Amino acid sequence: MTAIDHGRCPMQCIIPPYMTDHMVEHGDEETRRRSLELIAESSNVRGQREVRASIPQVSTRALTIGRKQISIFDAQGQRSTTSRVRRKTESDPDTGDAAVDDIYRGLDAAYECFLQHYQRRSFDDRGMLIDATVNYGQNFGNAFWDGEKLVFGNGNGKQFNRFSGARDIIAHEYTHGVIQHSAKLVYQGQSGALNESLADVFGILIKHFSDGITVSESDPENDDSKWLIGVGILMPSVSGRALRSMLRPGTAYQDPVLGVDPQPDHMSGYKKTDADKGGVHINSGIPNRAFALTARAIGGKAWERPGEIWYQAMLQLKSDAQFVDFANATERYAGEKFGFNSKEYGAVAAAWSQVGVKLSRQLAGTRSLGSAVGADADFDAIIQRVAEQLGKKLVEVVAAELRRDGALLLREGDAASKPVISKKKVAAKKQSPAEPVPTQKRKTKKRTAKKNS
Ligand SMILES: [Zn+2]
Repeated sequence: MTAIDHGRCPMQCIIPPYMTDHMVEHGDEETRRRSLELIAESSNVRGQREVRASIPQVSTRALTIGRKQISIFDAQGQRSTTSRVRRKTESDPDTGDAAVDDIYRGLDAAYECFLQHYQRRSFDDRGMLIDATVNYGQNFGNAFWDGEKLVFGNGNGKQFNRFSGARDIIAHEYTHGVIQHSAKLVYQGQSGALNESLADVFGILIKHFSDGITVSESDPENDDSKWLIGVGILMPSVSGRALRSMLRPGTAYQDPVLGVDPQPDHMSGYKKTDADKGGVHINSGIPNRAFALTARAIGGKAWERPGEIWYQAMLQLKSDAQFVDFANATERYAGEKFGFNSKEYGAVAAAWSQVGVKLSRQLAGTRSLGSAVGADADFDAIIQRVAEQLGKKLVEVVAAELRRDGALLLREGDAASKPVISKKKVAAKKQSPAEPVPTQKRKTKKRTAKKNS
């Protein structure tokens, strides 16, 4: 049997530790006891997860390749994630146990959305087995990804309903599995908040995908009902609508026992804290809002273009990525895929600006433009300056013009002393007598021409 540190939850739990702490301080006797039970349990599961992540090749799951394989196991009220009581796979009819059947459908929706729209097969993109444990513990008020499977309690009976009832929560935990096998975002500080935010983003997208929900900029500004995480898991006695609001972070709940939703909606409210792994469930409100704003501005099915931009940007992240790195990645992908004058690009750039994340403009578009002209980073920077003033198409024309004029061959001496190529200089160069072209540069030019053919 494996015990978990649920209270401080070093795993990727849906209920953050500050909420449990508040319940201990302000709950009634039973709530305090159940919350303290969670905190008192301790284990080395976090270590186990890290070991698993570092040696995925020894996991039988990681080695499994191919078709969709979802299995739901029943812990039968035990606090064990290793139960082998299998209740349902794809070939079985519904069991009549809502926890089992809902989790199965939720995982199926998550798998299909990732496959159909982002061409990703299971967590690892190789068809890794998808296992979930339900009916975990007695009055267990949390749900989590343990590094290998999803685990769901049925709520503490006081503040939380069973977690398997919320499809976005199921998809949130599924996405933690995807992140573990892709960006591997460190679960601390801003990279941890990105980890949490991406889990919310794909959690809500998969809910939209399975329920056919579309979004629009004309949706009432103060109506965030399409953007709430965990609707239905709060008991009626709780004063709140959900765990989080992606569109209006900080407004989801205000309750004597749970406390007040602490999420900021702008970088000006960024919380520097040692708690909650540096605020991973708190500051995630900032990128959450950026996504909701982007999806509303693009309009329609949020799991399509907005989801694609977020997914592809995630694949480019390093494990210690900060908000600005992710913002740049989304902007770059949107520009390259849809055009730097497109609605999609404009929506992404405006959304990050609205939440106070400043984009590094010099990065936008440089990679594909650079490869398109076979140039190096210095030339990319020149192209980028032009790109900021003009659109991508015009830039390509200018790039072709520069190549024809041999402007690429201006790269002499060290980079710092190099002049910026202006239209004026290009014109002047046209008029100047022909200069000898160094041999090495001839080669570069030749290679470039070949590449583009
Ligand atoms: Zn999470």
